[in-house]
Amino acid sequence: MIVDSRRGALKYGPAGWELWRLPGRVQAFIYGVHVAALAVLAIAAVGTRWHARDLATFAALACCAAATIEATRKVSVPHGTLFRDMRAVWYITAAALLPPVYAVLLPLVIVPVKVARMAPGVTHRRVFSGSASALAYGGAAALFDRFPHSLAGPAPASGIQVVTWLATLACCATAGLAVDDALVIAALKLSDPGVHVRPLAFGGEAVVSNLCQLSLATLIALPAAFSPFLLAAALPVVVVMRRFMMHAQLVTAARIDAKTGLLNAAAWQHETELEVSRALRIGSPLAVVIADIDHFKAVNDQYGHLAGDAVLSLMAATMAALLRDYDLLGRFGGEEFVICLPHTEPAQALQIAERVREKVSQIGAQGPGDVEVQVTISLGVASLERSALSLDELIIAADTALYRAKKAGRNCVRITRDQGAGRQVG
Ligand code: GH3
Ligand code: MG
Ligand code: MG
Repeated sequence: MIVDSRRGALKYGPAGWELWRLPGRVQAFIYGVHVAALAVLAIAAVGTRWHARDLATFAALACCAAATIEATRKVSVPHGTLFRDMRAVWYITAAALLPPVYAVLLPLVIVPVKVARMAPGVTHRRVFSGSASALAYGGAAALFDRFPHSLAGPAPASGIQVVTWLATLACCATAGLAVDDALVIAALKLSDPGVHVRPLAFGGEAVVSNLCQLSLATLIALPAAFSPFLLAAALPVVVVMRRFMMHAQLVTAARIDAKTGLLNAAAWQHETELEVSRALRIGSPLAVVIADIDHFKAVNDQYGHLAGDAVLSLMAATMAALLRDYDLLGRFGGEEFVICLPHTEPAQALQIAERVREKVSQIGAQGPGDVEVQVTISLGVASLERSALSLDELIIAADTALYRAKKAGRNCVRITRDQGAGRQVG
């Protein structure tokens, strides 16, 4: 698992690493995970009997993991997200076939390959994800090892044992995937409190990619338990799956604003254009709302940009909770949000905007030292009633109304109504 990448970060060497600039609690968590991984490695190594066959299987798995990275090394992944990349397939296979020490060691030996061969990224994040995976799959291997050999063991013997072996492996691998995700998501959340945990941990993307890794790992581990040479046959399938998963994740990431989890401006505009043409075709009303946080610069100046980001994140969640499923909510830019309200008369749009304004004025985001940061928003509404306005015209009309709301003293809603022949601002 890769956490993310930021171009250019490798240029500056250890002295320029972002790690040293992270808040103390994030550094403490990262060091804690590294120390725990090394301690677990040492403990597991002491109790291990080393066999040439195990070492050969381990080397084959390390080659497969490195080849998987090599095959997609030019793909640069988005910053601030959890990127699932199918490497867990090899870690789970190691947990099934080898003593636990190898499942701890495998993610660690892959770290230099990631750092040296993948698109430039933040080194400490790659090292961290190595230690997190070492703990997660080392734990899964230890769990698998504790089951009686009649159920699990290094290789299934009889027909019925194949079923229990696979079921046990699936349970242990699920625990490993969950721990791996939990450690990386905890690090992301600690470094950016605005990160949304739920979609990262339980979103469709997360569930599908973890299920893919789980099913591939169990399918590969079973034949490889009989002959590690069969790992070579599995490699192309994993590479193709990794390419497919990366493409799917990049397509999703390209539509979503990483900071708020909302549609980004381009995706919102694309989807709203479809709604506007549908509304014009069937003669249905529609409204566009632009919301802008009041004096947001002062929030950044007073509480810092992290608190500002927490406010943006809270805004997004608050608005999303108040809107209907078919409304489209996006982040337009800095501290501006846009809402498309299909099938909505101007009076109803005003009510919705007013409800959003009121709710926002009642809540507070967590600032430094548990200070509550409160903000208000101004909103401009534009409606599509009689004329065939384009989306650009609707946005300009909503912007005009927003400007009037700001001039009226902020923390209020104004509307530009489409009157067919001309427009009225109220
Ligand atoms: P007004 O009430 O007139 O809208 O005043 P304002 O301070 O909100 O407006 P202005 O345009 O002067 O400042 C917007 C600020 O939003 C400046 C910029 O630093 C901040 N901003 C933009 N994007 C982000 C972001 O992603 N995170 C944080 N923390 N701040 C941001
Ligand atoms: Mg603004
Ligand atoms: Mg503003």
